[in-house]
Amino acid sequence: EPYSRILAKLASEAKPEAILFPHTAVGSDLAPRVAAKLRTGLSAHVVNIELGERGLLRQIVPGFGGSIMAVVLCPKRRPQMATIMPGVARKPKPDWSRRGEVIRVEEEVSEEELRARTLELVEEPPEEKPLEEADIVVAGGWGLRSREGFRIVEELAEALSAAVGGTRPALDEGWIKPHQMIGHSGKTIRPKLYIAIGISGEMHHTVGILDSGVIVAVNNDPSAPIFEVCDYGVVGDAFEVIPRLTSMLRELRGAQLKQEP
Ligand SMILES: Cc1cc2nc3c(=O)[nH]c(=O)nc-3n(C[C@H](O)[C@H](O)[C@H](O)COP(=O)(O)OP(=O)(O)OC[C@H]3O[C@@H](n4cnc5c(N)ncnc54)[C@H](O)[C@@H]3O)c2cc1C
Repeated sequence: EPYSRILAKLASEAKPEAILFPHTAVGSDLAPRVAAKLRTGLSAHVVNIELGERGLLRQIVPGFGGSIMAVVLCPKRRPQMATIMPGVARKPKPDWSRRGEVIRVEEEVSEEELRARTLELVEEPPEEKPLEEADIVVAGGWGLRSREGFRIVEELAEALSAAVGGTRPALDEGWIKPHQMIGHSGKTIRPKLYIAIGISGEMHHTVGILDSGVIVAVNNDPSAPIFEVCDYGVVGDAFEVIPRLTSMLRELRGAQLKQEP
């Protein structure tokens, strides 16, 4: 509450053209409160942002269940506000000639305003190697049908020393953990090699993988949208293709190990 009050007050005084928040737990809580106080628009889950004519921000958001990329404009109200998905933008090289100014402001916060308090902080156990840092990611989707079926993804990942990821349905079914979900509401990754198995390639998923080095897809439906974004596509039954690939890789690795002194 006090944060949104103070930010809205500062925005009314400074009259910025735009305010951008990260779409984190704090950002997605704070931004709508500030936007409502300022009576302006807010685009949430923005995956790309461009500066258009007359300072108008083109805020790009997957819409209608991921079937389109919507461009959202806020032409009438100021400031323009958006929450940006973490990890979607590449870090640019620093331009040391540019200078910003930090203006410190003092604000009073009364006891009554602090309606929520942190009573305890509980640390989550650390995840395995984060997906964002893996060179190879093997991911599975609803096409794997069951927990048992999803094992072919894990076995291929093991043979490639890769990290395992998945889609929203894979998370909903409990085949993967939340930190393994890739896409709009999950992770944005840029591995050297991304292998999608039994994944249709809906936009909500593919926004998280488009910057991968090489994308390989295995799907039994030749019209699946994943084939529009992949570099190599295999139209076939994952339960036939993947175990064969895994055993070939294991044999290859076994032969390599034998050759090593
Ligand atoms: C606001 C919002 C946010 C979302 N965020 C995310 C997100 O972050 N990440 C995400 O993943 N989704 C997200 N979704 C869901 C997303 O829109 C799709 O519904 C989801 O990605 C589809 O997952 P899927 O490809 O596993 O399943 P499906 O779309 O059901 O695709 C399964 C695929 O498996 C194939 N298949 C079936 N059997 C076989 C077989 N034997 N061999 C090979 N292929 C087979 C089928 O042909 C099909 O293409 C979001 C949706 C909304 C509305």
